[in-house]
Amino acid sequence: MANILVIGSINMDVVNHVLKHPLPGETIKSLKTDYNPGGKGANQAAAAALAGAQVIFIGAVGNDPFASQLLSAIRGIGVQSDFVFNKDGNSGLASITVDASGENHIILTEGANGLLTVNDIKDSLELFDSADIVMLQNEINWETTRYVMEESHKRGVSVYFNPAPAVQIPLDIFHFIDVLILNESEAESLTGIAVSNNIQAIQASAKLRDKGVGKVVLTLGNKGSLFTDSNDTVTHVPAFDVRAVDTTAAGDTFIGVLAATTGSKDISEETLRVASAAAAIKVTRKGALASIPNKLEIEEFLRAANSHK
Ligand code: ADP
Repeated sequence: MANILVIGSINMDVVNHVLKHPLPGETIKSLKTDYNPGGKGANQAAAAALAGAQVIFIGAVGNDPFASQLLSAIRGIGVQSDFVFNKDGNSGLASITVDASGENHIILTEGANGLLTVNDIKDSLELFDSADIVMLQNEINWETTRYVMEESHKRGVSVYFNPAPAVQIPLDIFHFIDVLILNESEAESLTGIAVSNNIQAIQASAKLRDKGVGKVVLTLGNKGSLFTDSNDTVTHVPAFDVRAVDTTAAGDTFIGVLAATTGSKDISEETLRVASAAAAIKVTRKGALASIPNKLEIEEFLRAANSHK
């Protein structure tokens, strides 16, 4: 079983469904309000745990009423949360308004996610020694992310990094990253190459590997995913043909399941296919963390897909 350490964000998404967005100064009624636990770190941790990995989440929540709900959401799916720190102030919060046409307005409160420090990580360094993979995203502060990468690299633990949301990454950290997993728009912002076909995906991946990353997995939405490594191996795995209703957390599901399935082995066509199956199931369901499939559902989906080949 893969041992995975996720260091990242955890947020409460407060989603208001409205007919149309309010004008400045206007007050309108919400048709429905949902509270959905999320955040890229928590989503990826959940996806990995549901796929069967042993997952420890290191993050931070505030001292508001959402904190305990966030913790029980990840604990409920088997993510170990003893190393989630309590900070003064808000938990991470996304205030989301969705109108009848599906257009979103989002205000993100970084809250406690921004308060996870290098010292917090120093208190949990012993966890790194038993991990196969350390997974990071871009929703905590950069100093902490850099420290985690350095410490993981020193200990020979594989670093999976998802540069989302996209920001420029300092050049000197690329060589700490074993597997960079990113979508088309993140690849464009890091390489300047607009990715809309496989040739551009191969070019963008090569440019990222030139910066020092060992392996690159580019996710291409309904066009699948493309894996390349320093031996110039190119593996393209098509997406499964499903009726997508909500692509929220598709990438997070893919990444968590890829890590859980790969563990201490190498990424392969098979592990990419399992990750694609999990992401395909996710996009057929509305919501984020609570809609991520488990191992049995993924296996069943793959059996059905194989029998239709
Ligand atoms: P992100 O959610 O980060 O933008 P992508 O949109 O690239 O990431 O999606 C991640 C993965 O989810 C894809 O590589 C693919 O396997 C799967 N996926 C995404 N959209 C669809 C879709 N419409 N149908 C089937 N699979 C999908």
